Amino acid sequence: MELVMLGTGHALVTRCFSTCFLLREGDRAFLVDSGGGNGLLTQLAKTGTDLSCISDVFISHIHLDHMLGVFWLLRCLAQRARKGLAKPLRLYGNSHVLDTLWQITKLLLPKAMPCLTELVHTISLEETSNQEILGRPVRFFALCAKHTPQHGFRLNLTCDQTFVFLGDIPFSEPLLPHLKGCTWLMHEAFCLEEDADRFHPHAIEHSTVLDAASLAQRLHIPHCILTHADDSDLEHRSERFLREAQSVYHGDIHIPYDLEHIRLI
Ligand SMILES: [Zn+2]
Repeated sequence: MELVMLGTGHALVTRCFSTCFLLREGDRAFLVDSGGGNGLLTQLAKTGTDLSCISDVFISHIHLDHMLGVFWLLRCLAQRARKGLAKPLRLYGNSHVLDTLWQITKLLLPKAMPCLTELVHTISLEETSNQEILGRPVRFFALCAKHTPQHGFRLNLTCDQTFVFLGDIPFSEPLLPHLKGCTWLMHEAFCLEEDADRFHPHAIEHSTVLDAASLAQRLHIPHCILTHADDSDLEHRSERFLREAQSVYHGDIHIPYDLEHIRLI
């Protein structure tokens, strides 16, 4: 299974796409978040992913940079349905996400509603919720968000390897059981610790590279992926982030750019 980064930026980036990614195996893909608009379609095209490959979609929370791309996906799905080419889609989110999603869809895509309600099977996530995606067990869990309700998940890659996505907010201690023994951690990292006075990540519920890498080291997580980052120095982002992360973390660290592939197993 490989992870394909469709976007790696935070909400207001202009030089890369907002954070969303695929977990892809063979001709099936699980889309995690959908970016901030129809750039999702561009990024999918650039990675050679046909929309029919996407069987499952998870939206972590209703912020614009995570949710707006999904309406383009639904629009494409409805268009394909008219040609008899659409496949059903499973869409996971908490009730906040799903209520918002259907309200907006009704307003923006009224003619598509009958076919979308038939094709899109929505799965409402509770505090924790066990599902199966790409033939693997996935446990969704609520994050400790202060404002907008948000979920992350833990996916079993193999019997002894797991991938954890911690959404768009910093780790907090009640989440510890979900991270125990995980192999891959994807964590947001808005900017470097040395730039914290400039970006104030903690004031907007985000982490620095140092925060995220220190957590991965503390929990002995072997592989760590940092994303949802600032793009003002995009050319040097990877090397600068890497340097700070490696000052505290001794595992395998990834600071991906858009369209980068990471082999998980
Ligand atoms: Zn975000």
